[in-house]
Amino acid sequence: MPDYEPEKAELASRDVVSRHMESHINKGLGATSRFGEHLWLDIRLLGEDHINTRLREVKEICQYFLGIDPARELIPVRPAQHYSMGGIRTDAHGQSGTLKGLFACGEAACWDLHGFNRLGGNSVAETVVAGMLVGESMADFCLGNEASVDTGLVREFFEREQAALDNLRRRGGAQRVTALNAAMQSAMTRNVGIYRDADGLQAAVAELGSLLERCADIGLQSGGHGADPELVLAYRLPRMLKLALCVAQGALNRTESRGAHCRLDFPERDDSQWLNRTLARWPAGAALPQLRYEALDIMAMELPPAWRGYGSRDFIPHPQQAQRQREVETATEQYGNRFERQEALMPYTHLLPERYRSHNARLFEDGQGDFNDPEAAGGAAE
Ligand SMILES: Cc1cc2nc3c(=O)[nH]c(=O)nc-3n(C[C@H](O)[C@H](O)[C@H](O)COP(=O)(O)OP(=O)(O)OC[C@H]3O[C@@H](n4cnc5c(N)ncnc54)[C@H](O)[C@@H]3O)c2cc1C
Repeated sequence: MPDYEPEKAELASRDVVSRHMESHINKGLGATSRFGEHLWLDIRLLGEDHINTRLREVKEICQYFLGIDPARELIPVRPAQHYSMGGIRTDAHGQSGTLKGLFACGEAACWDLHGFNRLGGNSVAETVVAGMLVGESMADFCLGNEASVDTGLVREFFEREQAALDNLRRRGGAQRVTALNAAMQSAMTRNVGIYRDADGLQAAVAELGSLLERCADIGLQSGGHGADPELVLAYRLPRMLKLALCVAQGALNRTESRGAHCRLDFPERDDSQWLNRTLARWPAGAALPQLRYEALDIMAMELPPAWRGYGSRDFIPHPQQAQRQREVETATEQYGNRFERQEALMPYTHLLPERYRSHNARLFEDGQGDFNDPEAAGGAAE
């Protein structure tokens, strides 16, 4: 990593590290072992003490999953799926705009807390904050008048799903669920992975579509007594394939590179065309998802998109990028107080429940502690 990213080395952002790992392997510089093709990660230089005390989780993962001791041995590593950058589109209260009463937060949601969900490193913080806010708005919703549940609708849904499961158990189709699942995994890894291009993505869309069709002819082997993982997978697979198709079709349409979406045929980030969200819906009976796009308002951003700090500085700016940047700079000069600055740039406090609108305190601000003297701050600098 120091060769590829002299400044940030292995602390570069994860999509950047993953791309370097993948290209390193593609250059033929990977290692092959019983784990397949991969690279070696050497953390032995940190010493046994550090690894056993500060990196216990890493040590345990190595022990449980690989049977190796990272204080003495090299760790085989390769990029893998890390985060789902997409989810149920919700409003500021975590509620879906298209299905009343459906709430989502965390990795399952597409929320506005950090703009795009997510290229930064704050998903745990987002999950905790969203859990608090969305949980409360769910509770309010349930206590309010809107939450009357139509039991007829619930029964109808239950009966439909039960009938589908009974049918799955009974019918003797020709398709094996594990083979279809493996084919989906391989299509996604091969063509919708770290590097993408139009040919690969088109091939993925075609293959995933054909796998989805074949799901109509699944035949189970297991007999269906007791807990039945094959039945569970058969039930889930068409849904997973639909989601995979949304990802692949969305990636095919998006003719630019952005964060973890790296198009070899469109290497530039194009904020002039693609500063938007892909919204997917699946009309009943359709073979492919319907995609539409929701523009992001750059004039409402506290940090308008700019160069990320890696690689070439090429990107196509949004037409209002410079204007918003000037506004941000002016507000920064105008307001010494960070709360006033934030309110001027992002006036969203009214969206919070009343009790959360007060200003949050920072340690070492407003005489609350001395940064250079953690003890005076009650040891909280830890
Ligand atoms: C290797 C790795 C490293 C990461 N490092 C960082 C980091 O350094 N910093 C950071 O901010 N973020 C990091 N993340 C991301 C962060 O951990 C996740 O985005 C976050 O934990 C997601 O929280 P969540 O509650 O939304 O979802 P999850 O933690 O995935 O919780 C979803 C829960 O729902 C349960 N569930 C699923 N289906 C059902 C069902 N049908 N019925 C009932 N329960 C169900 C699951 O079992 C799970 O417990 C990392 C992620 C990974 C994989």
